[in-house]
Amino acid sequence: MKCHRHREHDAVGVCAACGKGLCAETCAHDGGLGLHCDTLCEQRLRQREPRGDASVGAVWSVLLVVLGGALLYYGYRYSEWSMSVPNLLGMLFLWYGVVLLLQRAAARASGPAQNN
Ligand SMILES: [Zn+2]
Ligand SMILES: [Zn+2]
Repeated sequence: MKCHRHREHDAVGVCAACGKGLCAETCAHDGGLGLHCDTLCEQRLRQREPRGDASVGAVWSVLLVVLGGALLYYGYRYSEWSMSVPNLLGMLFLWYGVVLLLQRAAARASGPAQNN
């Protein structure tokens, strides 16, 4: 990959905000937030809070599992495992929540390995 501004220079990295190739000579800036190409992208990186997003994702997946369990319990009590709306919704929420949790666990497991 070549630098987006200097076609003769090889890119040493990509802008974390817009994904353009950046050369080491003049284009790659790192303000502690990751590489960025200009001040506009630096601002975009500052506004972005990956840790906040991650914790929101965790809350959502747990909430989905709890909600799915509650709906299944409700469906079981009132319609005894027939294919009622609460049962189907409960299974859907439970399944989606578990998938989200597994995805987060897989991402966390592969994280430290990439740093080696
Ligand atoms: Zn950029
Ligand atoms: Zn450049």
